[in-house]
Order: sequence, then C-alpha cells, then structure tokens
Amino acid sequence: MDNIDQYAVVGNPISHSRSPLIHQMFAQQCGEQLDYVAKLVALDSFSADIRQFFADHGRGLNVTVPFKQQAWDIADQLSDSATLAGAVNTLWLKNGAIRGDNTDGVGLVRDLIANNGYQLAGKKILILGAGGAVRGVLQPIIAQQPLSITIANRTLSKARQLAAIFADIYTLECCKYEQLESPYDLIINGTSASLNNELPPLPDVVVSADSYLYDMMYGERPTVFNQWGKNLGAKNCIDGLGMLVEQAAESFRLWRGVKPDTAPVIARLRKQL
Ligand code: NDP
Repeated sequence: MDNIDQYAVVGNPISHSRSPLIHQMFAQQCGEQLDYVAKLVALDSFSADIRQFFADHGRGLNVTVPFKQQAWDIADQLSDSATLAGAVNTLWLKNGAIRGDNTDGVGLVRDLIANNGYQLAGKKILILGAGGAVRGVLQPIIAQQPLSITIANRTLSKARQLAAIFADIYTLECCKYEQLESPYDLIINGTSASLNNELPPLPDVVVSADSYLYDMMYGERPTVFNQWGKNLGAKNCIDGLGMLVEQAAESFRLWRGVKPDTAPVIARLRKQL
C-alpha cells in the first residue's frame, strides 16, 4: 500500500466530491496504480496540511472550495492560466517545487469543443457572473479567439475588476444584466444562482434558437438557467458535468502523463446523478 502513489482532493466540505470516483475510473482505464481519496481540511490548516501531504510523499492534489486561492499562494510555480485565474485546483511536486495549475477552463473548453462539437472561434460570447469560476475559465476561452466576450454581473465593479486583470491579453466588455440587448452565440452561466434554483435577471432577448447555453452547474434535472433557455427555444442547453470530468482529466494528464477517455466516465456519472 505504501508504494502506491497517493493523490487526494482537499476541501471543506468534501464528502459530496465525485473526484475520487472519477480518478479511480481514470486509473483503472489507463492501467495506472494510484490511490485517490477525499480529505477534509480544517479551515485554518490548509497550508500546513498541504505541506505535510507532500512531505509524506503525496504525489498530487485537487483543491476545491474554499481553498483554491490559498493553493495559488502556496504554489512555487504557476502555469500562465493559473497566474491569471488567481486560483489553483491542481497541485503536484516537481523537482522539489510545488507546481500549481487551474484546469477548470481547459475542462470547460474541451467539453464544448471535443464533447459537444461547438467551436468558440469567432463567436459572440456572454458570460454571466464575475466570481472565482469565471476568472478561472477566461484565459482558455480567450485562447480560442472568440469574436467578443461580454461579462454581465449583478455587481458591475467585479466584472470591471476582471476586465482590468485580463486587459493585457483581451478586451472584455462589462455590463449589468439589464443592459443586455442583443442575442449571443454562446451564453455561459458562471454564477452560483443555479445552486439556489435562481436565475440571474436576464432579458429574453439574449437568447435565439441558435444560441448555445452552458451552465457550469449540473444536476439530475435541467438547471433553472437551461430550462429558461429551452423555454425560449434554444436547441442546445448543456450542463457542467462534462466540465467537471474534463477538468479532472486534465489534472490526471498533468500528474500521470496520460489523457484518459472521458466519455465513459461522463456517461457513468450522468446515470448516478
Ligand atoms: P463565487 O461565489 O466566486 O461567485 C458567484 C457569482 O455568482 C458572482 O458573480 C455573483 O454575483 C453571482 N450570483 C450569485 N447569486 C446570484 C443571483 N441570484 N443572481 C445573479 N448573480 C448571482 O462562486 P464561483 O465563481 O466559485 O462558482 C460559481 C458556480 O460555478 C458554482 O455554481 C459552481 O458550482 C460552478 N463551478 C462548476 C465547475 C464544474 O466543474 N462544473 C467548476 C467550478 C465552479 P455578485 O458578484 O453580484 O455577488
């Protein structure tokens, strides 16, 4: 047992996490010997616990709420994507240094392009929300060279802060929901409103039959946001389960050097929702 490479997801709370199941499926599929568990970390002991994990020869960690910013602080080396994201969800040790990356954006983009056949290049994109999840996905979306990206948020100043952070690589448009007045090709819900079965106060005009709607949230039933889109006639309304599995696959690739096949894992999780 001691010889098996140790991985974990850390968060607080953590019992709901599907990451152990996902990574166990990846490991089995790729013939990789590893152990992956969920670890509850006390709110005041993240830094000490993470350093201890690596001192005990732990190989890699996924980091979830509320520790992604602390993980960014602890990393000795950051990817470009993680630097801009201001948050890290993947840590591993390389040549004695703790490396940090943020795979959420790669996960979202791969789910759209590879799993759903939707290209982002040249598209007029609307992103709802300006919290950690949105900041985390912006760089990989920008890398796809969309026509434009508008960030709509309840608190306009937070959207403007994001625009300032990304100003060197892209010009993000910012507004409040009630200022939206035309349809978008792709609308990504990165707010936490769906968690409470709420919908941001969106004008219907943003949706056309050809609009693609993507909710980072997922569940057994369509989210409030996706149901709203369907009611307005949007043909493609998808949830964030594929993003969850794809961000995990990218972590797995960074740690193990192999990219698992995500389709059977997404299908199995979908059945279990
Ligand atoms: P934050 O708390 O950092 O940000 C929340 C955002 O939602 C803010 O922009 C906030 O607006 C907005 N918001 C909350 N409630 C409402 C509402 N009722 N109406 C309008 N706007 C609202 O959260 P995160 O960015 O960390 O997470 C956002 C979502 O992304 C969560 O649902 C999370 O589960 C999901 N997620 C999914 C992943 C996946 O793999 N599928 C990965 C990461 C996140 P304001 O600034 O005005 O307060």
